[in-house]
Amino acid sequence: MKIRAIQTGSVRIKAAQVEGRGHGLRRRLAIFTGTEWTEWLPTYAWVINTDEGIIVVDTGQGAHLLESGKSLHPFVRWEVAFRIEHEQEIGPQLRALGIGPRDVKRVVLSHLHMDHDGGLAHFPNSEILVAPGELKSASGYLGRLRGYLPHRWPSWFDPRPLNLAAEPFGPFTMSRRLTEAGDVVAVATPGHTADHISVAVQDGDTSYFLAGDTSYNQNLMLGGKVDGVSADERVAIATLDTIRRFTQSRPTVYLPTHDPQCADRLANRRLAGA
Ligand SMILES: [Zn+2]
Repeated sequence: MKIRAIQTGSVRIKAAQVEGRGHGLRRRLAIFTGTEWTEWLPTYAWVINTDEGIIVVDTGQGAHLLESGKSLHPFVRWEVAFRIEHEQEIGPQLRALGIGPRDVKRVVLSHLHMDHDGGLAHFPNSEILVAPGELKSASGYLGRLRGYLPHRWPSWFDPRPLNLAAEPFGPFTMSRRLTEAGDVVAVATPGHTADHISVAVQDGDTSYFLAGDTSYNQNLMLGGKVDGVSADERVAIATLDTIRRFTQSRPTVYLPTHDPQCADRLANRRLAGA
């Protein structure tokens, strides 16, 4: 099993989005009133070489999404900044690794925010899996109001529903195997979005937890600190607690999308909490 981190540009957000300030509505408004920005953070997508083919988890940012800023949600225009060149999109980076569009069997999306589905156009031949609730939240006019960009999806975009079953996987109650061997498993990690999923990859005795935006970095997960955008604080905290228990139950490398430590953590198998 080989996992690669593909950095697709970078992003800056408000500090109050990374770690929520206050509670309730105040926490969610702090993103707009806050004036403090993060440094530029990476946006990773993940490529897993399994015995059953290549699986891509999240597709990263898309340079083409930034070209006509006028049709972007105000949140996207004013509360977040993206940086990416066309050749930094996931497609060209995979081609440079010798991986063509037909080589990717499956693409799994943690959620449908534009820095996770922005590279979809590079995968017209792959099976694409999205949690049905996430697709519903992101679709149509209401999706646009929520800050998703359904009008920028490729015209062919019609993902397969990633339905999780009540099959426990470690401390997670809902899961679904993504390989026959069961070494790649999707688990429900609600919080950042209500139907957010993460992907656990088992390689020997080590688990690699591709965490999407469950937290912006590892310390926030270990500390149980919710972000500034999760709609339901209690749900998000419960998810962080479940992930932490997972990392305590087996050697785990924790890999959220925007954590600057991910490349080093993956390359050197640095375990959460170690
Ligand atoms: Zn993100």
